[in-house]
Amino acid sequence: MDSTNLDEMCDALDVELKKRGLSRRDALKLAGLGTASFMLNPTIATASTKAEASNAKAKIVIAGGGAAGCSVASYLAKNLSSPNITIIEPNPKGVSYQPGQTFIASGVWTLDDILADNKDFYPSEAKWIQDSITEFDPDNNKVKTAKNGDVAYDFLVVATGLQLNYDAIEGLTKEMIGKDGIGSIYFPEGSVKTWPLMQEFVQKAKNGGKKVEGVFTHPATPIKCGGAPKKIMYLTHARLEEAGARANAELTFYPSGGSMFGVKEYHEAIVKQFEERNMKWKYKHNLVGVDASKKIAIFDNHYLEKGKWDEDLGEFEMIPKVKKVEVPYDFLHVTPPMSAPKVVKDSPLSWKKGSAATGGWVELEKETLHHTRYKNVFALGDVAGIPMGKTGGSVRKQYSVLCQNLIAMMEGKQMSAKYDGYTVCPLITGLGTVALLEFNWTNRPAPSFPLDPSQERWIWWLLKVYALKPMYFYGMLKGRA
Ligand SMILES: Cc1cc2nc3c(=O)[nH]c(=O)nc-3n(C[C@H](O)[C@H](O)[C@H](O)COP(=O)(O)OP(=O)(O)OC[C@H]3O[C@@H](n4cnc5c(N)ncnc54)[C@H](O)[C@@H]3O)c2cc1C
Repeated sequence: MDSTNLDEMCDALDVELKKRGLSRRDALKLAGLGTASFMLNPTIATASTKAEASNAKAKIVIAGGGAAGCSVASYLAKNLSSPNITIIEPNPKGVSYQPGQTFIASGVWTLDDILADNKDFYPSEAKWIQDSITEFDPDNNKVKTAKNGDVAYDFLVVATGLQLNYDAIEGLTKEMIGKDGIGSIYFPEGSVKTWPLMQEFVQKAKNGGKKVEGVFTHPATPIKCGGAPKKIMYLTHARLEEAGARANAELTFYPSGGSMFGVKEYHEAIVKQFEERNMKWKYKHNLVGVDASKKIAIFDNHYLEKGKWDEDLGEFEMIPKVKKVEVPYDFLHVTPPMSAPKVVKDSPLSWKKGSAATGGWVELEKETLHHTRYKNVFALGDVAGIPMGKTGGSVRKQYSVLCQNLIAMMEGKQMSAKYDGYTVCPLITGLGTVALLEFNWTNRPAPSFPLDPSQERWIWWLLKVYALKPMYFYGMLKGRA
């Protein structure tokens, strides 16, 4: 991904828009992306200014240089007159575009469409140590690395993302993704291997005979991009329809929870979309095992059984029960359990108690993104121990808040910037339709546009396929949108 890709993306967007009589400026306005001015003139995309930069000085270490770490580094580089920034990141392609993995697994994009080199996006002012942090030592203001010894800091920003725990499912390892009908979009190679499996599944349905079974899971932990387990199901449905084979396939979603979405309005919209597509769902099913040789998924099904009559409450006691349920599959899409990386979880920085949403993740004040116990530590992105927001869309709102508060601290001022919990799920509901589900702490819809957010729209598909990627690479990672 370099700046010529931005030109190509914009050209492709123009072709699509022209068919509908829209200009790029109008489309960006319609999509509420008026700030994405770099998309109107990509050739000046790399220009930046240091107007009103702060003279405050301190050594800032950023743990993890993915979406969040890179955006923070770029913003600080622009807004400090003498930046002293070190990024510690092991993966040379940590900034790659993860939302595109859903498109890879469904044959819309290839790996080349999402991979990018850190060196093209990290600001030149930042020093990059290509290494892993093996220990956080916030009492002594330093981190330990695998190969480069201790690195000291005045301020630390934790942006290590999260850990995928495939092996928490009995009989499954990450290496098994791509074999025996088991796909998963949560890492780049997994998404590449999922596309042939989806094609085999579609072909098998097309061949006729016994109805084929597609099984899609959602675990009992917080996950990044809560909509992704359903997006891949919608896209499987779309590929089956395209092949004229939908009638010979059963598609069933098995979420561990008891609803489709935490926001009531979006839950209702999704139920309707599932019904319209004849897609099935079974709540309270948590994937705990896989027998790959027999192609059987094993779930813990949580349910309530009616107990004794309670005289005091005037109702029956409801007893929580669990039973094992075995489900045969031809195609199994696994969304693995996720947690904070072990190095974060085991460190003094993490919440030692807390809810599922916060336990083990970095202990933060949810609006300032400031650590509640260590005054020179901040965190954002997937590793943040806040009630919601494990999406790139949240990072886009968080990084400027965090940086403004960090600079205020460096200047000895009060922190005043606040994150409102905004997050967004562009729910891909077909090849050509997306519902843009935006919400915040209130668990209510928080649309950026005067349009019903629960409606599936072609304009959001365009936004997703053509505009969000350049927004990510040339807006967010460059610290300007
Ligand atoms: C399939 C899929 C679909 C998605 N769809 C969407 C979408 O449609 N919209 C949306 O907004 N978001 C989406 N997301 C989520 C989005 O990609 C993430 O929320 C975002 O990347 C989080 O940024 P981050 O920097 O916190 O984590 P990451 O981008 O994962 O970066 C974390 C970095 O930390 C590094 N790291 C880890 N451990 C260490 C260590 N010990 N030392 C040093 N560095 C370390 C890692 O190598 C990594 O580069 C999707 C994600 C996936 C997987």
